[in-house]
Amino acid sequence: MNLTSKKVVVDSRLLNFFCAAMFIVIPVLIGFVLQDFKVQTNLILTSDAERNTVALSQQKASAIKVQMNQAFQWLDILALLSSDRNEDGFLVVRQLDQLPAISNGFETIEFFEKEDLVRDFADISADRVSADPFERALKGEPVLAGRSAGKLGFFVPVRNQDQEVAGVLSGVMPVEALFGALETSPSGWPYFPSIIEKSGNYLINADMAEGGLADENFWDQYRSAVFESGFSLEQMQLAMDTHTSGFVPFEMNHEAWYFSFEPLDIEDYYIVFIIPRRQAEEQIVRLDELLIVHAAKIVGLLILLAMIILLFNRFIQNRLVKANQELIYSEHRFRIAASLTAKTVFSYNITQRTISMVDINGKSQVTNLSDAHFSRKLLNVDQISEEENNKIRQLFKDIESGSEVGCAIVRGKTPGDEFHWYKIRLTSGYDTKGIPIFAVGTIEDITSQKKYEDDLLAEVEQDSMTGLLNRKAAISRIDKMLERSADLPDGMFHAMMVIDIDEFKRVNDTLGHVSGDALIVKVATILQQTFRKTDIICRLGGDEFLIFLPNMNSTAMVEKKADEVLSCLSTKAEKDGKSVKISCTIGLAFYPHDGDNFLDLYQKADIALYYAKGSGKNRYAIYQSDYEA
Ligand code: GH3
Ligand code: MG
Repeated sequence: MNLTSKKVVVDSRLLNFFCAAMFIVIPVLIGFVLQDFKVQTNLILTSDAERNTVALSQQKASAIKVQMNQAFQWLDILALLSSDRNEDGFLVVRQLDQLPAISNGFETIEFFEKEDLVRDFADISADRVSADPFERALKGEPVLAGRSAGKLGFFVPVRNQDQEVAGVLSGVMPVEALFGALETSPSGWPYFPSIIEKSGNYLINADMAEGGLADENFWDQYRSAVFESGFSLEQMQLAMDTHTSGFVPFEMNHEAWYFSFEPLDIEDYYIVFIIPRRQAEEQIVRLDELLIVHAAKIVGLLILLAMIILLFNRFIQNRLVKANQELIYSEHRFRIAASLTAKTVFSYNITQRTISMVDINGKSQVTNLSDAHFSRKLLNVDQISEEENNKIRQLFKDIESGSEVGCAIVRGKTPGDEFHWYKIRLTSGYDTKGIPIFAVGTIEDITSQKKYEDDLLAEVEQDSMTGLLNRKAAISRIDKMLERSADLPDGMFHAMMVIDIDEFKRVNDTLGHVSGDALIVKVATILQQTFRKTDIICRLGGDEFLIFLPNMNSTAMVEKKADEVLSCLSTKAEKDGKSVKISCTIGLAFYPHDGDNFLDLYQKADIALYYAKGSGKNRYAIYQSDYEA
């Protein structure tokens, strides 16, 4: 259980916002990409369409030229035949539809004698046909002219044997027959051209095929056309002066068109194709449609994707909510459990080196290990000694180094100016790789427990009559101290003083055992007053006491203390008017000079004591080896 883990914040707004943003951004981006693609491909396709249009127009124009030349050649042949065959007259061919073998596309072929023509010009003109072609043909030239709506007239001179022009052979051909060879364009739009003179007069108006008349003027008709830069009607007229072909895009009546023009190479006629651009550029239209379809597909896919993400998000959110709920319950259970113990529970984040103390309400107080007052804050005490502080820091260091558990018992001064004892325990928690990342700890105030233990210990260690340490406890403490004294600095030593009351039996014998006991208690009190708290004072048994003075640096000081004891214990014991003079004798031995353990030191001090007793009592003696002799 990781106490430091916070509530998982279940918030799907960010993802929803992200989805919504993507839903707007991606179509816009796709739109840009498709638009760019469209512009690039349109440029290519437009130039392709223009090239195709020019090529197709030239091809159609060539077909028309061939057809017209054939028509003239056929009339020439007929003219020759008629002049060769009949000296008196000329072959007159009428109603050619009844003679299909020689019609060759002509509806009628008629011969007009020169005299008749000259006489009848007025009648011919009345037939809406200009007399001009006949006049020109009579001058010896083949002439092409409009005859009536949807029809073309071919005029060739017929010469007699003297090569004089004797008449005109005139053939009428329907425009459909002429243009019959023209296929429709690949997209199906009819490819009928207009044929105009440089002046703008129509020989054939493309509309004539549908009954239109050729009496309009081409240039006037397209005066209102809007041309792209670099193109104009004047440019087209100039091109016609030099008999060159050309290509002109323009707009009229809100629709885009091309002129594609080609010299007919008969007189100064020009073949002009007027092509709707949208038909020439049908591929572009198809591409635009395809782009729209594909863009719609992409947007559809995006919607589907967004819906899947949102559904998946919802599913994940539900699971997160459940997991989070369980985590909250789990933490709550943990806090309740922690509150039921008298211990303070905290968690230690090993990576961040922070301590969080969580109370039952979930409020946490965070302390950092690098804080100089870290130990005080952890225990909530006013003062703590450097030694105790080091113990706590060592405990956390051990956990950081990988210890599974750790424990330290430390003392601190509470705000009430009392010393309290605390037991700090830590148990490590690991990540999936087995690396310690946190530890859970408890702090227990063990002051009363410690006092009870101390009391018990004191009871075991105390001499029941005097309250001083008993022999066993003194031996144990002195031995422990001696074990730690191996590296005592030069000049430093410990002193052992054994004190025995002189003639104690006499007190018992004279004043009774109760007075003897009282004297023993009185001596103990005097000794406690004479020595420091750090000195070990004990009753070895009977009337014998032992003082252990650690960390001395002057034997003179020890001797002074011995003198002080002798003087303090020079007293009297009195009861019922009887009195007994009291004195004591002291034996001294030193660590490390006389021994390095209790027994050795005690034996040496006892020898010195024995020596002093033998020397007259009420004195002290320092052990010397010759006392043993
Ligand atoms: P010395 O000068 O040689 O020390 O003579 P002493 O009379 O003091 O003899 P010793 O020290 O050898 O004996 C101590 C006596 O103290 C022995 C015993 O009768 C008596 N004694 C031992 N324990 C107690 C006790 O708890 N209470 C009393 N009243 N007397 C005790
Ligand atoms: Mg004695």
